[in-house]
Amino acid sequence: MESMKVSPLLTEEQIRIRVAEIARDITRDLSTKVNDDDPTIALILANGALFFAADLLRQVEAPIELQVVRVSSYGAGTQSNGMPEIIGGVSLDKFRGRRVLIVDDVLDTGHTLSKIKKVVRESGAKEVRSCVLLDKPSRRAVEENADYIGFTIDDVFVVGYGLDLNDAWRTLPYVGIVSEK
Ligand code: 5GP
Ligand code: MG
Repeated sequence: MESMKVSPLLTEEQIRIRVAEIARDITRDLSTKVNDDDPTIALILANGALFFAADLLRQVEAPIELQVVRVSSYGAGTQSNGMPEIIGGVSLDKFRGRRVLIVDDVLDTGHTLSKIKKVVRESGAKEVRSCVLLDKPSRRAVEENADYIGFTIDDVFVVGYGLDLNDAWRTLPYVGIVSEK
């Protein structure tokens, strides 16, 4: 990691402001139909979306339950292998008849979100929405989109605010681009 450097792309302030805006949008959309007997399940894709989800969901003013799932798509490195697998964390029977909000870090090729949506729908969820911190539309390999998007970015590999490269830089408070020094 010593030969790599991180250049800031999104500041803490930019992230804070945008996360608050998305939380307001989600609150608005949920409050039109939700009541206390029907909490939304936020399905958080760990580890990448943990910080985003924690900041976001604390500001959503609607009843929410948390579920965390782990999905593998990368081994070490920066390229998706195109075949994401759910590697644990969640029991699928929880979703039957429920409203689900998937929270992920980056919508990149689209394989991960598309797989998760499919699994959640097949588990009997009555409504599936998705929220991503970052969208890289130029990278899309399958037709996929998110209902709530923090920032649209170019085809760059980013770390920080939950995102890692081989487990490094996840706890940076901002999002930055990794490159060779
Ligand atoms: P997709 O299946 O859409 O190609 O990939 C989505 C997953 O790839 C994200 O959940 C994220 O874990 C990872 N990913 C995509 N782009 C980046 C990036 O720039 N930085 C990091 N750290 N992970 C990324
Ligand atoms: Mg991820």
